[in-house]
Amino acid sequence: MVRPAEPDRDCPRCPRLVEFRESWRAKKPDWQNAPVPSFGEPSARLLIVGLAPGLHGANRTGRPFTGDYAGDLLYQTLIDFGFARGTYAARPDDGLELVDARITNAVRCVPPENKPTGPEITACRPFLVATMAEMPNLAAIVALGRIAHDTLMGTLGWKKSAHPFGHGAVHAGPNGSAAVFDSYHCSRYNTNTGVLTPAMFRAVFAKVRAHLDGPPRPR
Ligand code: SF4
Repeated sequence: MVRPAEPDRDCPRCPRLVEFRESWRAKKPDWQNAPVPSFGEPSARLLIVGLAPGLHGANRTGRPFTGDYAGDLLYQTLIDFGFARGTYAARPDDGLELVDARITNAVRCVPPENKPTGPEITACRPFLVATMAEMPNLAAIVALGRIAHDTLMGTLGWKKSAHPFGHGAVHAGPNGSAAVFDSYHCSRYNTNTGVLTPAMFRAVFAKVRAHLDGPPRPR
């Protein structure tokens, strides 16, 4: 059976996440409290892969990285590098559009304390596989954080030992497949502690832009 790229709203595959989701549906019936769908067109060349929806961010608003701190840095950076246009206002109806880019999460349902388990990552992987499979122009993938990177390596069938996670690392794909660009996750914790600065984050997207656009042409 070919699994669709978007899980059903009541996807039952992760009992712990289903229970967490249900508890928040009861507390906040106007929130998403369901798998958060990918944002952006399948025709995009760039896919950004996060870990999982934030409780008060995407799990509340229904759009990846929307409504919590991580989105502020991510969307401004995407706008600056031409991967988004409009104004990011932390709401799914802010009119922001992605340009040649798409955003998804390795795990589609919010996990307690932002920490999905290994079996939950494995359970949700078919949706990531299907998401990538429906992107015919995919040429670059940004992995936000080590877990997203490791999940991608498993999804792509690449050995983690040959492609270790490292901020700023670029992993070239075999036979012209999409390259993977690693970045520390743009979480509030990482930026508050100086693990990731806006300049470090921008440097990753500068590499992505150069990869997609090719070397500058002589005048
Ligand atoms: S995390 Fe993924 S596999 Fe698990 S219940 Fe949610 S949508 Fe289903």
